[in-house]
Amino acid sequence: MNKFRRFLKNPWTILIAGTALATLCGRWIDKLTGSNILNSILDIIKSIVIGVVKFFTNTYQSPLWFLILLFLLGIFLTLITIWIIVKLGEAKEKSLPKFLSFKEARFGRLLYRWDYYEDYGGEYKVTDIRVLCPTCICLLVNLECPNCNNYYDQLIKNDSEVEALIIHRIESQKINERS
Ligand SMILES: [Zn+2]
Repeated sequence: MNKFRRFLKNPWTILIAGTALATLCGRWIDKLTGSNILNSILDIIKSIVIGVVKFFTNTYQSPLWFLILLFLLGIFLTLITIWIIVKLGEAKEKSLPKFLSFKEARFGRLLYRWDYYEDYGGEYKVTDIRVLCPTCICLLVNLECPNCNNYYDQLIKNDSEVEALIIHRIESQKINERS
């Protein structure tokens, strides 16, 4: 039943059925009045089709200044399009939460860096937490700075602690901004 309804609503069905119905009506009127409505309608359609074909197959002689103008207009439109795309990109970037630029902080004696990712619910989560040596800002390897050889076993916070501290900083920043 649904298929039949969809078939009835299909534009092609409407077009073909409409044309057939109009033809039948035309023939019927022709018969009743002895006129030639159908043929004159067909003539009109024919002249429209010929007109359209002529329009697209005609070759025009255009002056050079017109071609140059058309060329410049093309460049102008391309530049406008690029400008709009760039502006849209900027607007999207501006609408991102401010805290996404907060990616580095000192917690205790050590320096931490991290990134964010957007989860399926559109929420931002902290990821890729790195610990850096506070003296030379070098990435620690196995709790040790490969550059100055300082060892930081006791001072390093685990990922959950760092994440909690980051969220705390962001939240307190927001509270500060509001007050
Ligand atoms: Zn170091």
